[in-house]
Amino acid sequence: MPPRPLTGAMADEVERLLSGRTRDIRLTGELRRRFDERLWRQTAKVIRSWMIWVAFVDVLTLALNAALLPRQVVLSMIAPACLLPPAAILTAVVWNKPRPAAVQRASLLLGMFLILLSVGLVGVFAGGEFYERHLSIMLFVATSAITIFSVPLAWTIAIACYALCLYLILQWHNPLLEAGSVVAATLFFSCGIIATVVARRTMNILAQKTFLLDCRDQRRVAELADANARLERLARTDPLTGIANRRWMMETLESLWRHGRETGIVAMLMCDIDHFKGLNDKLGHGEGDRCLVKVAGIIQSCVRADRDLVSRHGGEEFLVVLPDVDEEEAVAVARRIRESVEAAALPNPASSVGPSVTLSVGVAFKSRADTGVSLANLQHEADMALYRAKEAGRNQVSVFRRPPVATGQTAARRQG
Ligand code: GH3
Ligand code: MG
Ligand code: MG
Repeated sequence: MPPRPLTGAMADEVERLLSGRTRDIRLTGELRRRFDERLWRQTAKVIRSWMIWVAFVDVLTLALNAALLPRQVVLSMIAPACLLPPAAILTAVVWNKPRPAAVQRASLLLGMFLILLSVGLVGVFAGGEFYERHLSIMLFVATSAITIFSVPLAWTIAIACYALCLYLILQWHNPLLEAGSVVAATLFFSCGIIATVVARRTMNILAQKTFLLDCRDQRRVAELADANARLERLARTDPLTGIANRRWMMETLESLWRHGRETGIVAMLMCDIDHFKGLNDKLGHGEGDRCLVKVAGIIQSCVRADRDLVSRHGGEEFLVVLPDVDEEEAVAVARRIRESVEAAALPNPASSVGPSVTLSVGVAFKSRADTGVSLANLQHEADMALYRAKEAGRNQVSVFRRPPVATGQTAARRQG
């Protein structure tokens, strides 16, 4: 799914946070929501894998103990060790899909508590050398979770706190240890766990900074794409009339021809305003410009918006391309264009044809059978037809008639 664009206010917030100190970065509102949403997949995957791995190691350790340790010790370990796999697997199941934050928090904190309790109690129940060893393993399990779970800091601190509390409480009842050494050991491990929590906090902030930098990049890429699209539009549009320009039309036609449309049916209409120079001379260049805009609009209104192509080909010349029409339809469109321009009654006092602006149109047509007719050929034929319309008195449509040629001559014409 493409990233959703940032609103202006969110983009400002991104810049504000990035311009401050990294350690002060705090995501809020919609930015926070998007960050959590993006992080969720990765976090959930890590938590699920960790839970399944811990459950597996618990069962494996129990099996190894059963093989290596005295039966009495193993029997005492079974009950507390059995607490861990269901707790871990249930937590993994809850983290299998997004759920409300409260459910995720409760499941993770409860799951972790039961896992730590299980590891600690295995030592307590087995007693002797296993007592302290398992409590150390419990702290190691807590530390690994704190390090790799990318969850809110409050959750991390909660896990750290009850790991240390469990350690202190269970060690307190360790018959092999003095109270003083229990307190000393707890303080020692507290330092390690606090350092881990601080490192986790730094990683959380850096993850937020990376997210903010990504947001900034995405926004810049989107702005660049926008600017490119605007440039592209400008590059293919005639600034005066707003229709396509010659460059775009030629590129489009060349691409159509390259992609096999040359085997199809197409009509080309070359339209030229009659005595336009005189109009400019008599009414001024501004009036000439307004006339061009109106004629462009009239031509566009006479063709099919979804398939036909219209461009300003030169000063007062317009090229119309009609794909998939027969010759009769093409001539009908050309006539409609000519009549509509005349009916618009735009003044041209310099015209010898009449008092208003008129148009001459040259039509060239290529049927499916004319496979050898190149783009340049067809354009040339439309030009020739236009020339004839002008010669015959202007304000009319002239159709280019291709003379029937022998096969050998056809090949020669195609190359020409
Ligand atoms: P014909 O009937 O033979 O086509 O005669 P014409 O006067 O229309 O043709 P000609 O080629 O002699 O003159 C075209 C004129 O179009 C000359 C030029 O000043 C004018 N022209 C070209 N581009 C523009 C433009 O963007 N705005 C205006 N107002 N005039 C333009
Ligand atoms: Mg002209
Ligand atoms: Mg001209």
